[in-house]
Amino acid sequence: MEPRGRYAPSPTGNMTVANAYTALRAWLDVKSRGGEFVLRIDDTDPERNVVTVDSIVSDLTSLGITWDEGPDVGGPYAPYVVSRRLERHVEAARSLEASGRAYWDYTPPLEDASAHKKTKGADRGRTGAYRGNPEPVSGVEPVLRLRVPDARVEVHDRVFGEISQAADDIGEVALLRSDGTPTYHLASCVDDIDMRITSVVRGADWLNSLPQHWLILEALGADPMPEFAHLPLLVGKDGQKLSKREGGLAIRHLVAEEGVPPLALDAYLANLGFPERPDLLSLTELASDFDIAAHNRNSPRFDPKKLRSFTRRWLAEKEAEDSFVAEIRDRAPAVGEDTVRLLLPGVRPRVGTYQEAADLYAFLLASDEAGRDVTPISDEVAARIIGTEPWSAAQLEAAVDSAVPTDAEQRKAMMKAFRDALAPGFRVTPPIHYLLLGLGRERSRIRLGVRTEAAG
Ligand code: GLU
Repeated sequence: MEPRGRYAPSPTGNMTVANAYTALRAWLDVKSRGGEFVLRIDDTDPERNVVTVDSIVSDLTSLGITWDEGPDVGGPYAPYVVSRRLERHVEAARSLEASGRAYWDYTPPLEDASAHKKTKGADRGRTGAYRGNPEPVSGVEPVLRLRVPDARVEVHDRVFGEISQAADDIGEVALLRSDGTPTYHLASCVDDIDMRITSVVRGADWLNSLPQHWLILEALGADPMPEFAHLPLLVGKDGQKLSKREGGLAIRHLVAEEGVPPLALDAYLANLGFPERPDLLSLTELASDFDIAAHNRNSPRFDPKKLRSFTRRWLAEKEAEDSFVAEIRDRAPAVGEDTVRLLLPGVRPRVGTYQEAADLYAFLLASDEAGRDVTPISDEVAARIIGTEPWSAAQLEAAVDSAVPTDAEQRKAMMKAFRDALAPGFRVTPPIHYLLLGLGRERSRIRLGVRTEAAG
């Protein structure tokens, strides 16, 4: 049977590299096995919902992640937004109550429950192997809880291996809150069953809940039981949890604003935690050979500097010419497509983002002006360069090369003079021969201050 996997983001903030790290793994896991992928919006916490479905869809789409079913494309198990499935969750809870797998707990809520930061909602303060009180107490609105059967829970996690917990160590998890609304734990398990999910890939922050989720799934009669893979959390360079609030880690900031090539970001993120895998792989290449069981159990570190050197290599060696040209054209619309293409080989090895690439064309847009200090370049040398035939990258490179002295100091000074004249005010530029190539003979002549008759 082909696997069905899902990614279930909570709309609690803009998607970050940490979300992309999880989404990619969930996607690669099913795509590498020819399965189907579902996007489900996990909006169980209405107060914390701050981003729209559209923004999640567009962030994931910008990374090349696709889904067969989801809130935007629909599918046989719609709706794919959790808050619109509440009736199903309540119905499932009632069936557990009817079969005796769940009961109403009349333990009054803790007065200082807010002190228990680790657990949330109806389970706040109910730590460890919590057992409730099934005897009605007047004035107490009860919470529906799952009964823990008297047997060890043993689950194989595809990353973390055998997870085994004695019944005595498993708390009775809340399914319906005292106001009758379903908890996240219940909703997630019901939706996974209803949507025929067979493969769950998610962050290791859910590993502690796994035995409880396993019991809920079993009680609801999941058949087959889904397989689970928990991912070590992506952490920052300092080993600390990545904070969602850091704007610099938002996918839309990195991709749309900075111009980080999304496929390079994918390849970088996808391979973190797999030290042995070759890098610079496209999504298709990544998906052709992906085994989540080989994932390192330690938290990988997201290092913006490493990402930068990775994207530089990507743009130099891997980025397809047409997509590169299209990105630069979008960011530097005043430069014609032919010119973008012509200079690309000179630009490619020098940049780490599309925006940096586009910036390297800006010298073309400056106005042509003669009379700058071109002292180290003699009239004769300048004229010889302007007379280069044909006006091609290779010929221009040879012309510049033969014009500059071999002495390192003098060479540096002359290169700087060429750069100052051809690309005034630009500190980083393509190589000199590409400046000439891009400007063309006439504009180069003006910028180098060569009189027409001297150019012969
Ligand atoms: N909404 C949860 C999260 O964002 C998903 C957990 C799961 O995949 O089961 O962490």
